[in-house]
Amino acid sequence: MKNLDLNLKAVVESRSDIGTLLSKPGDAVIIQRGQPRWMMLKCPCGCGEDIPINLDRRAGKAWRYYQGGDKGVTLYPSVWRDTGCESHFIVWRGRILLMGGYVDDDASSVPDLPDLIRRVRMSWPSGVMISYVDVADKLGEIPWDVLEACRHLTREDVFVEGSGQQRAMFRRR
Ligand SMILES: [Zn+2]
Repeated sequence: MKNLDLNLKAVVESRSDIGTLLSKPGDAVIIQRGQPRWMMLKCPCGCGEDIPINLDRRAGKAWRYYQGGDKGVTLYPSVWRDTGCESHFIVWRGRILLMGGYVDDDASSVPDLPDLIRRVRMSWPSGVMISYVDVADKLGEIPWDVLEACRHLTREDVFVEGSGQQRAMFRRR
């Protein structure tokens, strides 16, 4: 399995407007009425199924949807199908990264990562293990971007990543 681009074909008002827009793996349509309600995504694994992804918090468990400018589409958290092909992937800045498959070292597409790393480092509270999501919210940044910055800081021995239940949580060393 390879990573692929998320191909946002259209923004429509209802599911019945999708028609044949979803043809290839990674094709996506946003259903928007006032605000984004759903993303329909042709499964990136190639199984041919269309995955409905809820973006509307009022309708239950919802993914966060980031869209704008050069950022491309991002969803948070990851999408993990519990039926059918059971694909697990993240959508990050217009790319679909399949988990448990091929790891792409060039996957990072964070603009000005050094600046983000600096801001993450400065705003991280000292002495506590916290989730990168909380810091992303505080900074108004995409969680995957902040996670990328945290991984860099961990490799540089500035941060320590938690283990077990505290995986994906970090504290200053
Ligand atoms: Zn699939």
